[in-house]
Amino acid sequence: MSQVVVVGGGLAGAEAAWQLACRGHRVVLYEMRPQVTTPAHQTAGLAELVCSNSFKSNETTNAHGLLKAELRRLGSLLLRVADGARVPAGAALAVDRRLFSDAVSRELAARSEIAIRREEITALPDAPAIVATGPLTSDPLFDAIRARLGTEGLYFFDAISPIVSGESVDDSKSYRASRYGKGEGDAYINCPLDSDGYEALRDALLNGEIYRTPEWDEVPYFEGCLPVEVLAARGRDALRFGPLKPVGLEDPRTGELPHAVVQLRREDREGRMWNLVGFQTRLRYPEQRAVIRLIPALRSAEILRYGQIHRNSYINYPALLSPHGSPRDEPGLIFAGQLTGVEGYIESGATGLLAALNVDRILRGEEPVLPPPTTMLGGLLRYLREADPRNFQPMNANFGLLEPLAQRIRGKRRRREALAARALNDIERWVDTLDRAGTAASGSG
Ligand SMILES: Cc1cc2nc3c(=O)[nH]c(=O)nc-3n(C[C@H](O)[C@H](O)[C@H](O)COP(=O)(O)OP(=O)(O)OC[C@H]3O[C@@H](n4cnc5c(N)ncnc54)[C@H](O)[C@@H]3O)c2cc1C
Repeated sequence: MSQVVVVGGGLAGAEAAWQLACRGHRVVLYEMRPQVTTPAHQTAGLAELVCSNSFKSNETTNAHGLLKAELRRLGSLLLRVADGARVPAGAALAVDRRLFSDAVSRELAARSEIAIRREEITALPDAPAIVATGPLTSDPLFDAIRARLGTEGLYFFDAISPIVSGESVDDSKSYRASRYGKGEGDAYINCPLDSDGYEALRDALLNGEIYRTPEWDEVPYFEGCLPVEVLAARGRDALRFGPLKPVGLEDPRTGELPHAVVQLRREDREGRMWNLVGFQTRLRYPEQRAVIRLIPALRSAEILRYGQIHRNSYINYPALLSPHGSPRDEPGLIFAGQLTGVEGYIESGATGLLAALNVDRILRGEEPVLPPPTTMLGGLLRYLREADPRNFQPMNANFGLLEPLAQRIRGKRRRREALAARALNDIERWVDTLDRAGTAASGSG
């Protein structure tokens, strides 16, 4: 039985440690919290969700849903635990973050193969090892990675959304509904805005003072996570076509489509906390308060958490790493999670799972493997290794990553159904080849 070091007990590291244990390896998992913490984490729990409590859609015609289906087939721990910690969220898989992190921590603690050490790692470990220290990797380790890989790392900043208390939302000025009536009806609270209200909100966003540090003027934001004020500045209707889009959200009281809708997504099972979907922001707190109070249903809202900004560090994967994510001269030292330039909880967990699978193969004298680019996981990995290193930016699951279909199919929905069917078929076949090689044995553990 070999011993593998896993650094970082976040989404990727937790999944990796568990997968390695299931394949019979002894694992030492290093997590620096609570001794040393990050600007975003608040607990000592493993697999803590630092911002949204949503893992996004479960439907396979959605890119995140498809990635989840593939990971379920690969025996993901995180998804099994997420299913057990679900809160209502329409077609999305959202969890009670505390239940989720507690359950992951328990699963890992229960494995006799895994030793969990609460320690900050400041130098790169020797292979076999997985480094999954995330977007907020502590400075000494990030410096060590830079020194090892021989060039500057890259940064950008993520902005996180405010949370309001459920009881402070005005029921008479809001309504519960999921978009197009999908899923549970009480998953979202919708706060409608008329055109005057929308314009006033946009003006306040544009005129609000933002929190500055010298680095922020050069921030290359990730397109999928733009601060709401940056999006507002892109045009009069940018918000209405973005996070405030009303389509599929008729107001049941009037039967009409509002001009715009601010959606609140449930944060906990009891509905005590609700976050403003898409309102990640770098506005100063008083300006955030003023903006939120302009929304009629939130005039008296109690703000439980303000939006914030955090650093996000990642490695220039296509420039610096091998196809499976290791330094080119050390295949058994594999980077995983957001540090590799994927973006998102599930994407991070997915690369943790794959890293474990490849460490296992290397230890058994086999070549590392990658899923075919007809699958979402394979497409993501192909992006990482083949993207233009001069403009390398983090990437989340999306259908653009997949190998196009041999035949042209008209209509987005039908095209996605065909892409998803092919991906699920191909992941099945890929798992079969791994089974024959003895790699895939995991799942129930
Ligand atoms: C502020 C913020 C908000 C985000 N919001 C979302 C969101 O809403 N939805 C979404 O899908 N994604 C979000 N992300 C992106 C990303 O999905 C998450 O950061 C995700 O947790 C990444 O998983 P990971 O395993 O790579 O890193 P993490 O989950 O951060 O895990 C890394 C772990 O390594 C530990 N660590 C760091 N350095 C060391 C060291 N030197 N020694 C030992 N341990 C160390 C950390 O304490 C942490 O526990 C957000 C990121 C940030 C920074």
